[in-house]
Amino acid sequence: MNEDIPQLPSYDESSLDAAFATLAEEVRGETTSRVDVEAFRLRWLGRKQGRLKLVSDAWLKNAPAEARKPLGMRFNQLKQQIEVALEQAIATPAKPTTKAGIDITLPGSVCVPGIEHPLLKTMNEVVAVFHDLGYSTALGPQVESDFYNFEALNFPPNHPARDTQDTLVVAGQQAKPSRDRLLMRTHTSPVQIRTMIAEAPPIRIVVPGKVHRNDAADATHSPVFHQVEGLCVDTNITFSDLKGTLDHAMKALFGSDVKTRFFPSFFPFTEPSADVQISCIFCGGKGCRKCKHSGWIELLGCGMVDPAVFAAVDEQRVAMGKPTAYDPAKVTGFAFGMGVERIAMILHGVSEIGQFYSGDMRFLEQFA
Ligand SMILES: [Zn+2]
Repeated sequence: MNEDIPQLPSYDESSLDAAFATLAEEVRGETTSRVDVEAFRLRWLGRKQGRLKLVSDAWLKNAPAEARKPLGMRFNQLKQQIEVALEQAIATPAKPTTKAGIDITLPGSVCVPGIEHPLLKTMNEVVAVFHDLGYSTALGPQVESDFYNFEALNFPPNHPARDTQDTLVVAGQQAKPSRDRLLMRTHTSPVQIRTMIAEAPPIRIVVPGKVHRNDAADATHSPVFHQVEGLCVDTNITFSDLKGTLDHAMKALFGSDVKTRFFPSFFPFTEPSADVQISCIFCGGKGCRKCKHSGWIELLGCGMVDPAVFAAVDEQRVAMGKPTAYDPAKVTGFAFGMGVERIAMILHGVSEIGQFYSGDMRFLEQFA
């Protein structure tokens, strides 16, 4: 804060001398008692509220033309005095302040133990169910190439199915061939491709992770969310294995009373594909507001791995000097994917997805 601007009674030489002597004395007084160099600098030389600026504005405003030059010279001298004082202050190390003793009468600081975030907890619960079935965890990058996110998963360039996953692309990629262009992965499925290129069957992986879509945030959508993906590839894997695996997983997650049912659906990388519904965990299937009175809740997508995906994997393996390993006549597999937020919202009765990301302790503490 700057105090009042001193009055300048008149613009004659002796009045100016007296007024500037007072200011110079003020500067000296402050530099000897200064504790903070930066505060001193701001107080005097601050661009907008600095004392030098305020005083010169006030005094120059009403100055007669002939007084402007002597005024300007004196302000320059004063500024130099301040700058010299600043340099000296910076060169002289500040005296150490007296160390305060510990006041043992103060209340102690409380360390609140951390907990898993509800989304991480849900994700770990889903992953644990599949670990118990012999699956291992695989991870992949969030910045992916078009090849892994789309092309190898049987989304050809310009395929309309790409429109269902509004993609956030990395800028400045136009010069690259389309399959090498980078984007934020829209699903965890690219990790299927990365794993199959690296390893021959049998494969049983579960892939937790963050995915990105150009979705507007609303009560149930967020541009960044989490998925858990699964892939099982071996000889003689059938749709029955898929049904049995997911039925078991849903019972493990939501309770042994839960029933599952499968509906035909479409995903480019599985054929046939299905949506999986579970019987409503709130009304037991009788019908309520939560299940829109249908008795069922749609939860995940799945299907048998499309032979075109195996072909893309083998093509890439050959290009990398590896033997082919995914002949669709010999191996089959299934894949599934689910949204972690959706499962957490159902499990905990959360109606606003944004609450998971808000960092509001009143919300998060409920999961402690
Ligand atoms: Zn219901």
